[in-house]
Order: sequence, then C-alpha cells, then structure tokens
Amino acid sequence: MKLLENKVSVITGGVRGIGLAISVAFAREGARLLLTTTRHPERSAEAIERLRAYGTEVQLVEVDVADQAAVNNVLLPAADAMGGADILVNNAGITRDGLMLRMSEDAWDDVLRVDLKAAYNTIHALLPKMMRKQGAIINIASIVGIEGNAGQCNYAAAKAGLIGLSRSLAKEMGPKGVRTNCIAPGYILTEMTDFMSETMAADYISKIGLRRAGKPEEVANVALFLASDMASYVNGAVIECTGAM
Ligand code: NDP
Repeated sequence: MKLLENKVSVITGGVRGIGLAISVAFAREGARLLLTTTRHPERSAEAIERLRAYGTEVQLVEVDVADQAAVNNVLLPAADAMGGADILVNNAGITRDGLMLRMSEDAWDDVLRVDLKAAYNTIHALLPKMMRKQGAIINIASIVGIEGNAGQCNYAAAKAGLIGLSRSLAKEMGPKGVRTNCIAPGYILTEMTDFMSETMAADYISKIGLRRAGKPEEVANVALFLASDMASYVNGAVIECTGAM
C-alpha cells in the first residue's frame, strides 16, 4: 500500500518549483492530483505528462488562488468532481522584494494576497469536505516568516501570518480530525531564487550548516511525511527545512 493511495491532493502551484516536486512525490505514492497554475495550461504539458506516467489521475486548473471567486468557481468544483480534497498543500507564493522605505502599496498587497490571503481562500473553500475525510493541510511558509529578512517585510509578514493561521487552524480543526502543519524552507534552488548573483548565493550558503542550498525534492519529502499517516500525531507544527540556516 502506497503512502497516499487514492488521496485527492490539491497542490497550488503544483506544476513547477517546489510545488512540482511535491506533486511528483505525492504521485509516486498513489495520490490523485488536482493542481493549479496561473499560466496557460499548455506550458505545463510536460510536467503533467511526467506526473501521469506514475499511473495516477492528474487534473490541472487555471486559477489565481488569490482570487476568492476563482477558487470558489473553478478550484472547488474541480475538487468536488474528484470526491473532495483529502490533502491541501498551499504552495503558491511570490516575492516582491524591496526595502520598507521604498516598498509600494502594490508590492505589499500582491505578496499578502498570494502568500497569505490565498490560503484563506483555498482552506475556506475546501475545508467542509476535508472535515469528513480527516484531511491534512500543509502550508509552505518560509524561514523568513520566523527570522525576518531585510528587504522582505511584505514576504516575512505574509509567511508569519501563514504560520499563525496554521497553528490556530490546528487547534480549531484538530477536534474534527483535520491536521494543519507548516513547512519553513530556507534557501531552495528554484526560479524564485534564480535571480541571486553568485556572490549573494555564496553568502547565503556560508550561513547554512550543511553549506549548500536545498533541493525542491528535499522540501517535498517533508510534505509527503506531513500528508501521510506517518504524521498522524503531528498537528500545528512548523518544520524547518533549511539545512540549519
Ligand atoms: P517558484 O517561483 O518557482 O514558484 C512559484 C509557484 O507559485 C508557482 O508554482 C506558481 O504557479 C505559483 N503561483 C504564484 N502565484 C500564484 C497565484 N496567484 N495563484 C496560483 N499559483 C501561483 O517558487 P518556489 O517553488 O521556490 O516556491 C514555492 C513556495 O515555497 C512559495 O510559497 C515560496 O514562498 C516558498 N519558499 C521558497 C523558498 C525558496 O528558496 N525557493 C524558500 C522558502 C519558501 P504558476 O507559475 O504555474 O502559476
């Protein structure tokens, strides 16, 4: 028996970066996937083909998860058509970095919408059916939401908010059998961190205990653990995946 056999897993931003690595790990363990993207679905054809090769159902919907109407009108019916979500991974995230004195309202609002409000949207929509299925919610936060980071006040605030949401929901929904946990990754090699110069990357790496950046698959392994029954008594946790940053 695979770890997530037939579990309907909604993964926001599940076709690239850390989200794709989570989709692969879940597909390998038998999960049925409902993934979101904001890009034209054709751009994800290769990723979808790769996931379907595991022999499981994979559905992709084009949804801006920060848009509550889109979540209710597109994501929710798609999840219902699959029998309702067992697992929800709020992975979608963006950065709009800048020092506070120069940070525009748009940069603040955009990050708060995608990195925090979107989690409200998806949880609010999917939770009623998840309650009946003893589901698991995994929110991808960041070490920056715990430690803070100059130039990322908006992102740090959103990710700290996501941690607060998760810990509260864990207490609220624990009695109904829904577990909610967070992962706080450090420096992971994806398009999000691609912009870094070699000097900047080397500076980050010099501050990491393991002296290297993390791989998306290493975050995905933590997500797989949290989604599975192996984590049946883990609720309200924030697992750092930083190599000791
Ligand atoms: P990428 O920039 O590679 O991917 C971002 C993902 O978010 C994409 O899958 C994208 O989907 C999705 N996304 C962005 N905006 C929206 C939206 N409005 N609606 C739906 N989906 C959206 O970043 P990572 O893979 O690195 O990041 C994944 C998560 O991990 C994020 O929450 C990020 O904050 C977090 N994280 C990453 C770290 C890192 O070092 N990389 C460190 C700590 C946390 P698409 O383009 O298909 O629409």
